[in-house]
Amino acid sequence: MSEKHQHSGACCHDHDHHHGSSCACGHDHDHSSSCACGHDHDHQDATCICGHDHKAEGGVGHDRSMGRVCFALVGGILTVNSFLLEKFLPEQEFAASMSALLGAFILALPIIITACKDLLRGKVYMNELVALAILAALVKADFQTAGIIAFFLLVTIILETRTASGAQRSIEALIKLTPNTAHLINPDGSESEVQASQLKIGDRIRIRPGENFPVDGVIATGESTVNQASITGESVPVEKSPGDDVFAGTQNLTGAMEITVTKVGGDTTLGKVKDMIMQAEASRTPVVRIIDRYAGYYTPTVLMVAWITWWFSRDMNSVIAFLVIACPCAVVLATPTAVVAAVAAAARMGIFIKNISHLELASRISAFVFDKTGTLTDGLLSVVKLQGNDGITPAELLRRAASVERVSNHPTALAIMKLAKEAELELDEVSGFSEVHGRGVTGNCGQNVVRVGRGNWMRDAGISVPDSDPDEAAGMSVVYVSCDDKLLGWIGFRDKIRKESPVMLSDLRRLGVRYCAMVTGDRQSVADEVAGKLSIDEVKAGCLPETKVEFVENVKRTHCVAVVGDGVNDAPALAAGDLGIAMGAIGSDIAINSASVALMTNDLRRIAMLIYLAKKSQVIINQNLLFGMLFVFGGMILSIVGMMTPIWAAVLHAGSTLIIIFNSARLVRTGEELTLAETPAAGE
Ligand code: ADP
Ligand code: MG
Repeated sequence: MSEKHQHSGACCHDHDHHHGSSCACGHDHDHSSSCACGHDHDHQDATCICGHDHKAEGGVGHDRSMGRVCFALVGGILTVNSFLLEKFLPEQEFAASMSALLGAFILALPIIITACKDLLRGKVYMNELVALAILAALVKADFQTAGIIAFFLLVTIILETRTASGAQRSIEALIKLTPNTAHLINPDGSESEVQASQLKIGDRIRIRPGENFPVDGVIATGESTVNQASITGESVPVEKSPGDDVFAGTQNLTGAMEITVTKVGGDTTLGKVKDMIMQAEASRTPVVRIIDRYAGYYTPTVLMVAWITWWFSRDMNSVIAFLVIACPCAVVLATPTAVVAAVAAAARMGIFIKNISHLELASRISAFVFDKTGTLTDGLLSVVKLQGNDGITPAELLRRAASVERVSNHPTALAIMKLAKEAELELDEVSGFSEVHGRGVTGNCGQNVVRVGRGNWMRDAGISVPDSDPDEAAGMSVVYVSCDDKLLGWIGFRDKIRKESPVMLSDLRRLGVRYCAMVTGDRQSVADEVAGKLSIDEVKAGCLPETKVEFVENVKRTHCVAVVGDGVNDAPALAAGDLGIAMGAIGSDIAINSASVALMTNDLRRIAMLIYLAKKSQVIINQNLLFGMLFVFGGMILSIVGMMTPIWAAVLHAGSTLIIIFNSARLVRTGEELTLAETPAAGE
């Protein structure tokens, strides 16, 4: 236990815990007593899933939930005892009623205290309904009934707390991934063991085989394979060598290495993941907001109906049953339980949904716009042609291009740099480098201005570039290289379609997506070739970043559209879509920040999985809401007409809550197999 707390100190933020409202139960804890189910949701530690170390209030929530279990146990035993006495020792009437009185008192106490607290704060909510029901039973001297009602309500509260901490467990599992301590390498070369929370950016640490990384870092020496499943959901280990990034919470499998710390605590990818889950849980769906809005009218209405019932029937039992069944725990839990389960399931697949409203949105997506390079294709371009103009050798062309592309991380730049490195070219010193997104790069090599980029961008700069691309470049992506106002030549690239692309597209169609488009800054011929191999409805080539945005805006008029891109140079288009999905977001802050959903891997099947999960959660939420409402209103009517006893009302109330919780839990295992093939399109 203490180990866990150290962990949370080490890898979470120590900042002020303003996420008080982010508990997994999905209720808004800012007005804890305003929850329509009427339970006190102040149980900080027990239900908060954020995994933060709650220092000061740490023990309180836990004590409270333990306290409830004790109250429920002792009171429950006394109540049962009174029934037993009544049945088997009928002459002990006094003992039986004392036992019932005591039991009812113990069980009712926590509920009535909460209700009184609410009243003092000037809030009339569901606590009062339940408390009133119990009080009414007590006044009637029906202690057994009072005891049983209070018992089942306490059980419901405990159930809710349990479910919430189920989600907390998923975060705790994440926290456990980062070790407490690290082996720091001192400047003199010796090694000392330090708390992971004390590591600073720039520190050197040693990681042995089998250990987890405590922080994000760059490998300085050593090679290894790393299991990144905890973040990406992909269990195939990744090869890592010096210069590669490693991430907190992932596991070093084979080699020993030294890494330089680049990010600590909440800035690590794992920290961001935790933040996202917290945010998701704090955010509320429109349905919940509607319930909240009407919650204020609900209690007075129920009280009035209860009074009318009593006025006409003079039957206190009906009124008590009515008050108990009117407490809409099942309705209130319908959405949050499903949402927590869905977010946890998605996180396990490396899909991070930043806001719950995005989950609902994802279920309504009917159109997709994909970026080409790096999204539908793998973005690992290879140079296939170096064509110099009069007298320029391919090596010279490559050297010039590589010199200015050094700083860019565009796929074309990476391809050029890779080849230049293989050819061991001496690169020029470059100053005044600048990159124009979707167009190209420029830099000064000595006295000369060198440009690498697309044809019409060169033309705009006054360089004479042939109007049509050279014939031998058919099917290749082309960039031109110029020096001052002279064209040096062009470089041709080829790219591969990702192997999951066709599967994902057909999965999306099966899930009800009606329109898929591809946008790219690349040439028409290349775009057509890629689109020809995939089932794409519309292709737009030669796009600038702003044209991509325009295109998305257009599709948006008739569809609910998701945009998929790399999150770096596609950020504006991602932001323009109803839903922006960034690929390969692991380790990339820009990608994580620019999108509404971040995929940690480049595995496109996750996109279809996300849509499937979103649809399935929607189905489950609707089932829950329908069931909850039918249950509450049906129960109310039965009570009014005198067909419901208070005890049955209490039992059914707890039972309905359980049903909702179990129904939502069905979501947790979604995607474990990552195959959509045999799953029905519309969910169950
Ligand atoms: P895509 O839509 O295929 O992802 P981008 O919008 O990133 O493409 O870029 C469009 C075009 O702009 C590229 O095909 C390339 O010709 C040119 N370009 C962009 N960045 C660079 C760069 N760093 N170096 C050379 N050319 C570039
Ligand atoms: Mg791109």
